[in-house]
Amino acid sequence: MNLTQYYLYKLFQAYYKAHLKNYPTISDLPNREFAFIRWDHPGMQRHIGYPNSNFLLDYLVKYAPRHSYRSATIYSTPSADKMEHKGYLGCDFVVDIDSDHIPTSCQHRHNYVICKNCGKLLLGDKPEECPDCHSKKFKKIVWICDECLNVSKEQVHHLIDGFLLKDFNIPLSAIKLNFSGHRGYHVRIESKVFRSLDQEERREIADYVTGQGFSYNIWNYKPVQSNMSGFRIDQPGWPGKIAREFYKVLSQGSDYTENIFSNPRYGNPIRSNVLRILIERRIDLIRKLENKNPIWGIPHVGPTTWHRIFEILRDLIKADIDVVVSIDVHRLIRLEGSIHGKAGLKVVDVPYEKLDEFDPLTDALTFPKESTNKLTIKITAPICPPIRIGKITYDNFQPDEEYTVPLNVGLFLLCKDVAELIKN
Ligand SMILES: [Zn+2]
Ligand SMILES: [Zn+2]
Repeated sequence: MNLTQYYLYKLFQAYYKAHLKNYPTISDLPNREFAFIRWDHPGMQRHIGYPNSNFLLDYLVKYAPRHSYRSATIYSTPSADKMEHKGYLGCDFVVDIDSDHIPTSCQHRHNYVICKNCGKLLLGDKPEECPDCHSKKFKKIVWICDECLNVSKEQVHHLIDGFLLKDFNIPLSAIKLNFSGHRGYHVRIESKVFRSLDQEERREIADYVTGQGFSYNIWNYKPVQSNMSGFRIDQPGWPGKIAREFYKVLSQGSDYTENIFSNPRYGNPIRSNVLRILIERRIDLIRKLENKNPIWGIPHVGPTTWHRIFEILRDLIKADIDVVVSIDVHRLIRLEGSIHGKAGLKVVDVPYEKLDEFDPLTDALTFPKESTNKLTIKITAPICPPIRIGKITYDNFQPDEEYTVPLNVGLFLLCKDVAELIKN
């Protein structure tokens, strides 16, 4: 442990000590597996079980881990060191929404990698190999900003509002929502029915909310009239969703419609001549959709283009979730109330009705936002992008320079590994 790590350990420890009395309750705690990555020990310590929360809290205060996890699964013997000996009893349905797998324009501005071999700096995501020395080892700096945090929030709305409440009829009281402590959110359903789902059933749900495996053959396209049976706004499931989204897009005007169908964010945009025809027919299409008329004939618009239009609409509707997490029945998820060691933010419960007003960079700060404590840090990375903490954006950090910053700001920069501690 270097000085910075030791200081972070002490800060994490101070946080856990201060929250012993109001630490969040973990459902079915004696049946959960716990796992940690500590400061003093490489690798993950796992297969840990506790008879009650006092043991967990003792561990958190003693080791103040860099990363803390618990299973979404419930086991009869969670501390058994082989999966087959744990006694699987069921697994909560978990959805992970994280802007790391959702393309955003900001990731090219604030994420970068440094080649561990030659020091080459590259903006954006990790490439296959370094263009200069062909090494495949990189140090990755992943930042957060309002854009990527809001993208995650938007996808939570898609999931809960668009699918869980409406299509699956799950009561809001059964849906648990957490901020993950970094870039995203976890949604959990702990009901008996969901706990008993197998992997294939979980995959079906994941495919449904991401709009995968959708069959467009029901269109019945007639080439001579360029007619086809489209979808109606009153249809259940995906056909109705697509019709309603199409109606919503068209109703927002020509410019909006053009922007949606020509935006490369949603994959291949449709051809400009087809887009012109679509815009010319906009009012007519709106009327058809309103009247629930299923005949969507437009001259020169064939099934391939309709397919593309529907794919763009699907991408606007779907919830961009990490499918692997939802189908894995042995998944470890971040422990509620713990600090995320890569951001210094805490995993907090967010009631869905409060999601819009929830601000991770204010409400998930580890230390009180009123804290007047400061620390002096030195920037060690070649780039330190701006970060907003509370209402203030901290900007213009230069490499090798020292800065005295508020505690929560320093904690973020140290956890991001772009700075080292000089003085606290
Ligand atoms: Zn290199
Ligand atoms: Zn961002």
